[in-house]
Amino acid sequence: MKRWQGLFWMALLLAGCGAEEPVFETRFLAFGTLVDLSISGAPRAQAEAAATAIEQDFQTMHHLWHAWDPGPLGRVNRLLPSGERFAAPPSVLALIGLGQELSARSDGLFNPAIGGLVDLWGFHRDDPSQWTPPDDDRIQAFVQQLPSMADIETDGIFLRGANPRLKLDFGALGKGYGIDLAIEHLREMGIENAILNAGGDLRAIGSRGDRPWRIAIRRPAGAGALGIIAVSGDEAVFTSGDYERKFEHQGRRYHHIIDPRTGYPARGSLSVTVLHADATTADAAATALFIAGPDGWHALAARMGIRYVLLVDDQGAIQMTPAMAERIELLAHPGPVQISPPLPAAEAPRHP
Ligand code: AMP
Ligand code: MG
Repeated sequence: MKRWQGLFWMALLLAGCGAEEPVFETRFLAFGTLVDLSISGAPRAQAEAAATAIEQDFQTMHHLWHAWDPGPLGRVNRLLPSGERFAAPPSVLALIGLGQELSARSDGLFNPAIGGLVDLWGFHRDDPSQWTPPDDDRIQAFVQQLPSMADIETDGIFLRGANPRLKLDFGALGKGYGIDLAIEHLREMGIENAILNAGGDLRAIGSRGDRPWRIAIRRPAGAGALGIIAVSGDEAVFTSGDYERKFEHQGRRYHHIIDPRTGYPARGSLSVTVLHADATTADAAATALFIAGPDGWHALAARMGIRYVLLVDDQGAIQMTPAMAERIELLAHPGPVQISPPLPAAEAPRHP
């Protein structure tokens, strides 16, 4: 009897709300994080086939772009410090080109050439007990000889490194570029409405039936959402936060987003959320603006052509652009909220 009553109420509820668009959902592990794929408005068999293909794409990209495993990027990382000219594997050339362009546009704050510094801090290891502050001497020696993406000379498929400390770590870009490639693949397979979400960083295309996708922005401290953003059409939402990888050592807190100017974790921000047309740019920009911090993010966002930015500073206060303020529905937030002057209308073009 109870069961029938339940069904009756559910039917009434559905009738009242208008039937929910069915969404196919699947989840897998890649890039060290959980990836959620939601597909709307496609027959189940088509969605399942697409999901299988996308999961394979992610496993392949993970292998191709891993900085510390002996795959193609591992090989590039062995050869770059030698200063010798070599033919690069095609699978990493595009990523290197994008890394060079975005690093230059971020004034070098986004710098995927500092894999050696990530090594020193131990953040490439999955075991948090191995994350520890290196000797200051070693950090200073690295920063004196700071490698940059401009130290990689490219000539067609040939590369030559001009700095013995070069080591590429695409931890701040690969997820974004991978999501862009996967979205392109989904479209080729006839999927027009989807969200591809890797650990809270995502790109959404189309809509969920006649409604936009609703995206929760993670609160930097603790669980729960800071706000909700409605996305329909095609847009990426990326957050860089100190909470992803952090540790305490002798009473001080350290995290994994490193300011290349100092060699130490960037100070002043807890998290930065960026909305942009593509995930590649959004990923690099969120990292760069996090490092630029509460005083520097606005000028850098203008330079990078990013319109939608929200930064939570280390006091818990929010700064955001007027464009972001129009889009985000903030949930209860105890700290102050400051709206910045508007940014120039010119937005960075869509990648890739
Ligand atoms: P994200 O979560 O996108 O901000 O990426 C953070 C990851 O990028 C770190 O775990 C490092 O592997 C790497 N990383 C740290 N600092 C930088 C930096 N200044 N530029 C580029 N990549 C960085
Ligand atoms: Mg990033």
